Amino acid sequence: MSRSRTVLVAGAGIGGLAASIALANSGFRVLVFERNYQPDTSGAGIQLSPNATRALKTLGVLDTLAPNAIEPSELVVGNATSRAILATMPLGTAMQDKFGAPYLVCLRADLHNALAKIAGSHPDIELRYGSMLTDFASHSRGVTGQVERDRQTEEIIGAALIGADGIRSQIRTHLYPGTAPRHGGMSAWRATIPMDALPEETRGKKQVRVWLGPGAHLVHYPVADGKEINLVAVTTDAQMTESWGEEAAATDVVRRFSDWNEVPRGVIASASQFRRWSLYEAPLLSPWGKGVVTLLGDAAHGMFPFIAQGAASALEDAVTLADNLRGAEDVASALRNYERNRMPRTTKMQSAARNVGRIYHMPKPFNFGRDMVMERIGGAGLLRQNEWIYRG
Ligand SMILES: Cc1cc2nc3c(=O)[nH]c(=O)nc-3n(C[C@H](O)[C@H](O)[C@H](O)COP(=O)(O)OP(=O)(O)OC[C@H]3O[C@@H](n4cnc5c(N)ncnc54)[C@H](O)[C@@H]3O)c2cc1C
Repeated sequence: MSRSRTVLVAGAGIGGLAASIALANSGFRVLVFERNYQPDTSGAGIQLSPNATRALKTLGVLDTLAPNAIEPSELVVGNATSRAILATMPLGTAMQDKFGAPYLVCLRADLHNALAKIAGSHPDIELRYGSMLTDFASHSRGVTGQVERDRQTEEIIGAALIGADGIRSQIRTHLYPGTAPRHGGMSAWRATIPMDALPEETRGKKQVRVWLGPGAHLVHYPVADGKEINLVAVTTDAQMTESWGEEAAATDVVRRFSDWNEVPRGVIASASQFRRWSLYEAPLLSPWGKGVVTLLGDAAHGMFPFIAQGAASALEDAVTLADNLRGAEDVASALRNYERNRMPRTTKMQSAARNVGRIYHMPKPFNFGRDMVMERIGGAGLLRQNEWIYRG
């Protein structure tokens, strides 16, 4: 295939792999550069709402992922101190019936492995691990990427460059200096816990549980064929880390939830080890790219995880990117069309995630009002609020 049909992708995370598959399925040859020497399958759980699973189906990845994913029956929101249930939103068949696609939960590693398996076996995708994209320059023939591997530098020409290099994207800062991600003043404390280590009351349930407390919240759901649960507890925390996996002592995390009810506190206390992850969001950009260079996923619109759309929005980007590039004569215009198609939705998602964070962490006494509203609208109200997300 000629160079004019070769697309360079920086980053083999969820977004980069998805984009590679979508582009290769649309007739492009794709070169993917990943700075890590092997796939980084760290991370805890990921929720995949119907818009995400629809994108996975389009990419041809859903069947590979599905055996490792779980379809929870409902999402239950409760107050972490009083233990009152505020709203229950049916998932399972209710999601399939309404949106034509399932609501799944899995380990990030399962999603990453499924994407890497399909990308790795595609004849038009070349995955180069241990290869860091350090610089690039646009010119009349497209774009030249400078790639460093084992202290050797190679220059590679492509028709387009997709920056899928995550929340601290170098491609974004190269295009727009001074666009470092914004720290949200919060940390997520993540753990996976064997199901049988949990308090009896919470064991074996195929639910997504959300517990709301002043200045903090907890989400947990089953993963790994129901043998474990994935737990993410978010608290206000000024301390920053750039890593996805900084180890944290269990005693330090448990102490932060001492005023919670015994049930959610018991879930948190069941973990033997936590990993801390600081929450950041990407600055708003318009447009995302310049010329034949664009951004995708967290690099373009990294968002807080409170509406569980980080991976979903990257998967959606991948499908839309390929739709716009397929058959396009003018690559730069096709990339601006992709950005225009995606920006209103991802900007709305970023802002919805910010708002949901504020609602989840409402301090006393405002949380009483929040709880009353949630009880009144119930699961049907929650579904109505999220419908624009799930429809895609
Ligand atoms: C290790 C890890 C663990 C995570 N864990 C969770 C989790 O448990 N739950 C959750 O909801 N979300 C998690 N996320 C975030 C979630 O995966 C992303 O929000 C979402 O999938 C969007 O993905 P992305 O492809 O835009 O970015 P990412 O998934 O962050 O991928 C970016 C990739 O680009 C690579 N890269 C960066 N710079 C360069 C460069 N210059 N050249 C080449 N490669 C480069 C990185 O190594 C990385 O593999 C995690 C992300 C990572 C990287």
